[in-house]
Amino acid sequence: MHSLFDHEKLEAFRKEHKLQPYRIRQLQNAVFKNHIIDFDEMTNLGKDLRSDLKKEFEIIPFGVKTIKEDDETTKFLFESKDGQVFEAVLMYHKHTDPQTKIEKLNRITLCISSQVWCSVGCIFCVTGKLGLKKNMNRDEILGQVIYANNYIKNKFGKKEDWSRWTVRNIVFMGMGEPLMNYDQIKVTFPFLTSTDYYGLSSKRVTVSTSGIYPGLEAFIKDNPPVSLAFSIHAPNQELREHLVPMGKFYKLDRLMELMDEYVETSGNKVFYEYVMINNENDMPEIAHQTGKLLQNRYAHLNLIPYNQNPAIQLEESTPAAIKKFKDIVESYNVTVTVRQNMGRKEKSACGQLGYDALKESLKKKLETAKAGTEA
Ligand code: SF4
Repeated sequence: MHSLFDHEKLEAFRKEHKLQPYRIRQLQNAVFKNHIIDFDEMTNLGKDLRSDLKKEFEIIPFGVKTIKEDDETTKFLFESKDGQVFEAVLMYHKHTDPQTKIEKLNRITLCISSQVWCSVGCIFCVTGKLGLKKNMNRDEILGQVIYANNYIKNKFGKKEDWSRWTVRNIVFMGMGEPLMNYDQIKVTFPFLTSTDYYGLSSKRVTVSTSGIYPGLEAFIKDNPPVSLAFSIHAPNQELREHLVPMGKFYKLDRLMELMDEYVETSGNKVFYEYVMINNENDMPEIAHQTGKLLQNRYAHLNLIPYNQNPAIQLEESTPAAIKKFKDIVESYNVTVTVRQNMGRKEKSACGQLGYDALKESLKKKLETAKAGTEA
């Protein structure tokens, strides 16, 4: 099976079947504008053509194992052809109509994975406990967006103004470190941002990194039309190494230089992500260090209350500690936002992806150990 997004294969198919170029455009529109993922539903193409396409091409290169929903999120558990499981999460941002006081869906964000699990090992993250299984390829990454948009179409239909509900923001904040798989994520950008495809603005696609030099250097050099978030989590090298073990190979001083280079090259601000963990990185002196580090930089700090889970013995910062931290950093003229938590119920929140896989792997280890003791 070929990927429908392999231009050479598609062009060869077009020539072999003596199709006009506009047929390719129709195909692209079916997937990227009308959110169709089944060739049989592309009724503007003839039956024979649909059948030929089905024999040679695929749109989604993975299966769907489970879908878990709560009021705020939908979590997809996908399975690749080589049997690896990975997750993506839809987040539903709502607002209350000031006149009717009725809560309504406002926009939808999709958080996607770029690797199956992760080697960075952040101490607060379930995915990091699993270790790295593999880099995902372009079609597995893009397929998450295509599948999610089809899901939204079926779940929400059209808005009051008859335009479609679709993914409005895409964040590479799911499983994995995107800049350790930069070659594959960068080839998805044209599909996300070009008007021939989804046509999302650069502000609506965000790559989030824990700070990996080679990937960051390549990213800055390419200057792709997407935004950058840096998961900093600590304002000094020692604390950062404790929270983000991979950080011992990628020094904070150099990472901050690279952030400055990025701002200069792209003209964009950097979003700094900071998970708030009780008595780990939420103390007032740490807030002062964070304020000093970010002052005079083109920066926006997002504070993310830690999402607790039974697999990790850490606690979320108290609301009072978060408020104090925010106030201190703001006193250095840095813009700070406290992120709303979403998806805790279904373990879909930041740092919780892979919870079911981790539970399963621990269960297997226990069974093996028990069998060993009994033998
Ligand atoms: S937070 Fe991100 S980079 Fe850190 S271990 Fe989890 S998935 Fe990897």
